[in-house]
Amino acid sequence: MSSFQSQQIDAPTRRQFLKTLSRGAGGAALAASAAPLVGRAAPPAPHAETIGIALVGLGNYATGQLAPALQETTKCELTGIVTGTPSKAETWKQKYEIPDENVYNYETFDRIVDNDEIDVIYVVLPNSMHAEYTIRAAEAGKHVICEKPMATSVQECKDMIDACDTAGVKLSIGYRLHFEPHHQRVMTLGQEEVFGPVTVMQNGFGFRISDSATDEPHIEWRLDKEMAGGGALMDVGIYAIQGARYVTGEEPVAVTAQEYKTRPEVFSEVDETLFFQLEFPSGTVVDGSTTYNGNYNRLYATARDGWFEISPSYGYGGQKGRTHEGPMEIETVNQQARQMDAFAECIRQDRPSRVSGEEGLRDLQVIEAIYDSVAADGARVPVG
Ligand code: NDP
Repeated sequence: MSSFQSQQIDAPTRRQFLKTLSRGAGGAALAASAAPLVGRAAPPAPHAETIGIALVGLGNYATGQLAPALQETTKCELTGIVTGTPSKAETWKQKYEIPDENVYNYETFDRIVDNDEIDVIYVVLPNSMHAEYTIRAAEAGKHVICEKPMATSVQECKDMIDACDTAGVKLSIGYRLHFEPHHQRVMTLGQEEVFGPVTVMQNGFGFRISDSATDEPHIEWRLDKEMAGGGALMDVGIYAIQGARYVTGEEPVAVTAQEYKTRPEVFSEVDETLFFQLEFPSGTVVDGSTTYNGNYNRLYATARDGWFEISPSYGYGGQKGRTHEGPMEIETVNQQARQMDAFAECIRQDRPSRVSGEEGLRDLQVIEAIYDSVAADGARVPVG
């Protein structure tokens, strides 16, 4: 019997096994400790025609983007929520017709193991909580989508990947731009060397945090090193790193970086503005930058025989692409709906996500190298 056949047959057995355990003493702890007994487990089977998704953390992104996108998906639906704010639970229950039994808080979270209407846990919490909730979701036998940055350290990323592997669930990172057609076009232009090899890139993404916004809830934790793991780089600079990696199709071998702070009283714990240079094995160099002190948003690549860019590049929509030959005539799409439908297909077809945990881990390796370079006064630091 092939390992694929074996996985298919084991799937309901494991799901039933975890559920039986959780009803007895110990719940999630027992489920977690049970995982090694069954070895590398099979992915749990979806409950219905569509994949049920529970959003964890009903903040700006979940409220403004993911829940609306879930109304546009064709292969998945919003079946549950996890929130620490009872008033949000009431609003969401009514707005999205979510039954009481599919509403959890952070204390009752592990009981999701018993809920067959939830196939996927989508972690949309502050960065420092990504690892814990991804691992708890995996231990509950659920597939996971975790927002970017995957975690606040490389080690946490490895722990998350291990937990998902052990539980036999799939892990995907919220890299929505992999499903956006302009970005898919530049992946092709770069990786297939349509205009010759890419020689130099300039990638930057930043937005300004005004002095009056620093105590807004979604900004407050972003300025807290323990909660955010880092500043602009972790939050939006990661898109510039991603862009460099998927246009070249390569992994950077070394970085140098420089940090600037104009408002040290606001950014006492995290980075405000960073410039970084990425060296790729085939010779491409990338001039990257990120900031919490200005609004810009661009991916630009020059190649041996031409150039291409997306500007604006990294938003939820409104991408404008051009090459030296003229504008890219490409429709914009609902990125998040495509991203979640693509993950639903991965679950159905038992294949890995194109934005897997390994993809998130590689970005954290680059991010750690950039912070190491800053700490070493801009010294050249190998990646990984
Ligand atoms: P918000 O602060 O708006 O939302 C986070 C939510 O997490 C809160 O509303 C709260 O929800 C919950 N939470 C639980 N514990 C805490 C805590 N101690 N402090 C603060 N919040 C807590 O953040 P965003 O929605 O902007 O970002 C969430 C994640 O999504 C981040 O990792 C971010 O990087 C990522 N993101 C990704 C984007 C993308 O384009 N892929 C875009 C924006 C964000 P509740 O009240 O329900 O418990």
